Amino acid sequence: MEGPEVSPGMRAVIVGGGLGGLAVALRLRAAGWETVVCDNGPAFGGKMNRWEAAGYRFDTGPTLLTMPEVLRRLYDDLDERLEEHLELEELDPHAEYVYPDGFRLLVPARWEAWRETVGRLAPGDVAGLDALHRLGERIFRLSEDTFFRNHPLAARVPPLGALRHLPLRHAWGSYARTVERFIKNEYLRRIFLRYPTYVGSSPYLCPAMLLVIPYLEHAFGAWYVKGGMYRIIESLLTLARARGVELLAGAEAVRIDHDGRRTGGVRLRDGRRIDADAVIFNGDGAALAGLLGFPEPARLVSRSLSGFVLLVGLRERPAGLSHHTVVFSADYRAEFDALFGERRFPDDPTVYVNAPRDATLAPPGGQALFLMANAPGDGAQRWDRSAVAEARRRVFERLRSAGLDDLERRAELCEVWHPARFAERYLAPGGAIYGDNSHGWRRAFLRPPNRSRRLAGLYCVGGSFHPGGGVPMVLLSARITAGLVLGDAGRR
Ligand SMILES: Cc1cc2nc3c(=O)[nH]c(=O)nc-3n(C[C@H](O)[C@H](O)[C@H](O)COP(=O)(O)OP(=O)(O)OC[C@H]3O[C@@H](n4cnc5c(N)ncnc54)[C@H](O)[C@@H]3O)c2cc1C
Repeated sequence: MEGPEVSPGMRAVIVGGGLGGLAVALRLRAAGWETVVCDNGPAFGGKMNRWEAAGYRFDTGPTLLTMPEVLRRLYDDLDERLEEHLELEELDPHAEYVYPDGFRLLVPARWEAWRETVGRLAPGDVAGLDALHRLGERIFRLSEDTFFRNHPLAARVPPLGALRHLPLRHAWGSYARTVERFIKNEYLRRIFLRYPTYVGSSPYLCPAMLLVIPYLEHAFGAWYVKGGMYRIIESLLTLARARGVELLAGAEAVRIDHDGRRTGGVRLRDGRRIDADAVIFNGDGAALAGLLGFPEPARLVSRSLSGFVLLVGLRERPAGLSHHTVVFSADYRAEFDALFGERRFPDDPTVYVNAPRDATLAPPGGQALFLMANAPGDGAQRWDRSAVAEARRRVFERLRSAGLDDLERRAELCEVWHPARFAERYLAPGGAIYGDNSHGWRRAFLRPPNRSRRLAGLYCVGGSFHPGGGVPMVLLSARITAGLVLGDAGRR
């Protein structure tokens, strides 16, 4: 474990049992803290969750694991071997992209193979591909010892100093314009323009520093966890139980108690109070003010994307389907104008299809299919029956264009997760998946910090906070937050 040794007798309550909450609980427990995790839901894992019916098991959240070394680091720090808990599988190809004109492109895992693919498709773009990769690598190298270790404004040596070495006009400029400057082929551009959605953002509104995402995918691979991504949560829960982390499901915190200077614990909806030396909030950043009794913003602004997800059980696995397939809409720009400008579900959505080849997830010969389209995460769109039916129709219509004609007819079951359901289940206003979006360099780079500047004893972990959303960033967030809690306790 990083950070100073802390004597037993300290107690932390973690509000939210998502990935970040569980990881921070395990880290503090390993340092001798008494830890209590309370989650409003019936099951732990937060957005990394599972839904089961009729012999099918679906991940309802993440389907792609990137930067697996960050996950390994958690197990290492807990003196556990990842291989004894999880079976990771590297995917090759990473994904198949299907375009409105019927063109299909497989992106191989190995960088050299990808360069060759690009060389065959658009020889003039190989140099641009290399340039974007180098820029992504540069951003990653600078982040490794700075941004990934602490909040930029908390570090003793602000990484802003280091970042001046970046070719600034590219890293801080527009993501889409940077891609369009280096890549001329429209098929390739589309692939690059999709990456900012990994953090719930628009490629047309976020800074080019998010080019670190395609770099990470090629440098560290795209991975699957056998048995489904929820296996990660199951394994963390097994460790938590074995090590004495107290896990309270169906336990919503309705108040974080404080005297204006320091927090002292939380109050649950059922009236219980849990005293603690540290309160660690793992929920959505937009809900924190309400829990503290501070004024809340009247309207949700700058939210990241939510998702419109269909969990489809098929009796027969469709032939030739990759693990990840992305079926692009006809007009990508119009899609983001609808999502962030008009704040509504797009007329023609890009659809992501996840079809893991994993016999444990479906009855024999069958397929558990996860379909997802981006949806607004700001609560502006109502999700009544007709809106859900219409969004579902648009998703299947787009899939028909990719030759997946009769999925709907062949579906044995089709369960919908829409933004309002995400919002209600995870207490995430608007159903946003990643807290605030990463539009503009400030929001991308200066995420809300992991330690409250206002209240001693209050810490934050998870996708809403530094360094951001997605599995690896959330795990880094847990490492940073645990380090802050232990460091502060050591100084008391
Ligand atoms: C559909 C979907 C697809 C995704 N795909 C990917 C992917 O492919 N790859 C990837 O890396 N990431 C993906 N993500 C994002 C990833 O799941 C999240 O970034 C990550 O799991 C968030 O973890 P977290 O620690 O922030 O906690 P969360 O998952 O946000 O969990 C927080 C928990 O706290 C609980 N809570 C909130 N308020 C309270 C309260 N007051 N009292 C008690 N409990 C409370 C919530 O109910 C929830 O259980 C996806 C997410 C979704 C929804």
